[in-house]
Amino acid sequence: MMRFSNERLFRYLSIFLFLNSAILPVKSSSALAAWQIKTNGFLELRTKSNTNLKAYFQKANQIYGDRFWVDFPGELKNPRVIKGNGPIKEIRLGKPNTGKTRLVIEFKDETYLSPLTWRMVGLDQNRWRIKLFNPKNSFKNIGEGVVEKRTRIIKANQNSIYKRHRIHDYFQLPNVKQNKFLVVIDPGHGGPDPGAIGIGGIRETDVVLEISKIVKKLLSEKGVNVRLTRKNEVDLDLPPRVSFANNIDADIFVSIHANASRGKRRDINGLETFYYRGWRGRLLAKRIQKQILRVSPGSPDRGVKQGRFYVIKNTRMPAALVEIGFLTGRLDARRLEKTAHRQRLAYAIAKGILEYLSKVG
Ligand SMILES: [Zn+2]
Repeated sequence: MMRFSNERLFRYLSIFLFLNSAILPVKSSSALAAWQIKTNGFLELRTKSNTNLKAYFQKANQIYGDRFWVDFPGELKNPRVIKGNGPIKEIRLGKPNTGKTRLVIEFKDETYLSPLTWRMVGLDQNRWRIKLFNPKNSFKNIGEGVVEKRTRIIKANQNSIYKRHRIHDYFQLPNVKQNKFLVVIDPGHGGPDPGAIGIGGIRETDVVLEISKIVKKLLSEKGVNVRLTRKNEVDLDLPPRVSFANNIDADIFVSIHANASRGKRRDINGLETFYYRGWRGRLLAKRIQKQILRVSPGSPDRGVKQGRFYVIKNTRMPAALVEIGFLTGRLDARRLEKTAHRQRLAYAIAKGILEYLSKVG
């Protein structure tokens, strides 16, 4: 498992949020009434009504595996540890400080989670649900108490409680003006052209398409209009990619690729970003390069360079072509095959783009 203990960016991926402001008195008993982790990968919670919850996610470090935890008001009487199974190492119930209850779910190494997509959903005044993992490996129910039981009759005003709560990145992406920008993201290759083939048969086309889709989602959530040059495995030449961006008069164009080294040398790893012309293109490339390096510790910085690639040479707007690592490199390939790393790269690319847009506009 990759460790990112020095990466502040991923130390906390989430926060929120809830509900009404009825905070329980400090000395009251725990607001957590029951919890269950089900075979379908959902964590379900029952709390006292109108409880303020806070949830967090932290990437694995030297000491712990990936952890998700929820803080509840009210003090827990009996701190305890419950052994997990399947992807879950253990569950800890504790009191991080006086008057609080914390439910910690620690995952095993090699469990690939997708915290950026997590949502905590309020089912009613006192029940919550969040999907934590896909039940690929067999997982046996763990829990305490009965979640389904309702402690009181739902009141008329509870519409406001049926809300979805996003898990936000702790280090929020930069804000830009809503609906002002149009960005074209170009996942390299596609269809009969798989691009680079790396260690274990990993294919560039698959990696860059997945990342591009997440970049689109992240930017869209920030009010940026995003178009992909391709959404699936289709054969797409370079000229239509360029004319697409030129015709819709995009503000910027970003092409996403992964590298392969000649002779498939496993010792060659690293990230690089190209532009063709102009200080804007160069600035865009620099912002993206800086961010992708942050999520790829140990992988060499091959720099921001001028390159004569067709798609960045012929697009009329500021354009960059990013190489997110070597599929033939031992270090990069091992990361790029993981969804969690693809999400980190997508986040980094989105952040670089948003930084550029907020600066240059
Ligand atoms: Zn490529």
